[in-house]
Amino acid sequence: MSTSSSSAKKSPDLALSKRPLSKDFAQRIAAWFKLAARDLPWRETSDPYRIWISEVMLQQTTVATVIDYYQRFISQFPTLESLAAATEDEVLKLWQGLGYYRRAKNLRFGAQMIMSEFGGKFPHTREEILKVPGIGAYSAGSILSIAHQMPEAALDGNLIRVYSRLYGIREPVDRGPVLKRLWEIARIHVPSERAIIREFTEGMMELGAMVCTPANPRCGHCPVQNLCVAYKKGIQLEIPLKEKRMKRKKLREIVFLRNRGNKIAILKRGSDKKFLDFHRLPFMSLDSESGIPAYDLKYKYAVTDRDFEVFVSRSSDKLPGQFKVRWVGIKDCEELLFPTIDRRILADFGAFLR
Ligand code: SF4
Repeated sequence: MSTSSSSAKKSPDLALSKRPLSKDFAQRIAAWFKLAARDLPWRETSDPYRIWISEVMLQQTTVATVIDYYQRFISQFPTLESLAAATEDEVLKLWQGLGYYRRAKNLRFGAQMIMSEFGGKFPHTREEILKVPGIGAYSAGSILSIAHQMPEAALDGNLIRVYSRLYGIREPVDRGPVLKRLWEIARIHVPSERAIIREFTEGMMELGAMVCTPANPRCGHCPVQNLCVAYKKGIQLEIPLKEKRMKRKKLREIVFLRNRGNKIAILKRGSDKKFLDFHRLPFMSLDSESGIPAYDLKYKYAVTDRDFEVFVSRSSDKLPGQFKVRWVGIKDCEELLFPTIDRRILADFGAFLR
């Protein structure tokens, strides 16, 4: 894939007209969405608070995973007021396993801010909504258009892919001017008819999630196939281009499982700067020079741009002296906040102890 400046000169893509791809583009997307929409719990509400929760959960997480989390969250915190009044631990506990915990903290801060600065009313304008912690341009556009049917555009990774394929854009989409143009493209496609704004926004999201997918776009099911430059040229899989390819980091750590009967050693909370909000099993990061340590179990997991290998040492040896630990019943650990990897280890070890 070339990302050279010569391709930028040759490509006519960004000089396209400032009109939508067709006059009835939004109507087609909205009509298709009415037929194709999946039944999702956040689609049954117009409450901006609930739509906000779903939008934040859906960042970096699949729909299938989010459904249960969303339902539990909404049943415990049905309103902005209830979330604003919650403790951070209560919110993080419900978020446990979803990852990217800053999102959960920002939701709580955001709810508190809306209570204090906006009198408990969810902001109605782009300018105000952008002041809420954790709400960026995409979430602002989706909340305003879905909850309030305001003619606001939303553009996330999925929609960048859809629009850049529709226009056949062979410029790296992470270049500032290209992204700016994609926002303009998203804006000119937002319908002026209020009645279909919600269906249009949700329809574009559904198209990106279910039809115009990264690896195998189902162009035969696409409601706007005849407008799509990438489809006509057979270049769907070459788009979108990215200039900065994320380099994945490989990280390794060793976790020490030590028990006294049914009690297990855990680090005192806050004893590691990176995990201030969590309890952790005693662990050490291993540098790239270290060989593979002696271990009993090995786990692997991935987070955005990092691949982790976790070696678990389970023995009766004394813990290395630097750890400040306390001993907690394995059952009681279920009530405590742990990162996902520790919860997996504890669940496996708990089953072993029983
Ligand atoms: Fe995406 Fe294919 Fe539809 Fe083009 S025709 S927008 S590539 S699904």
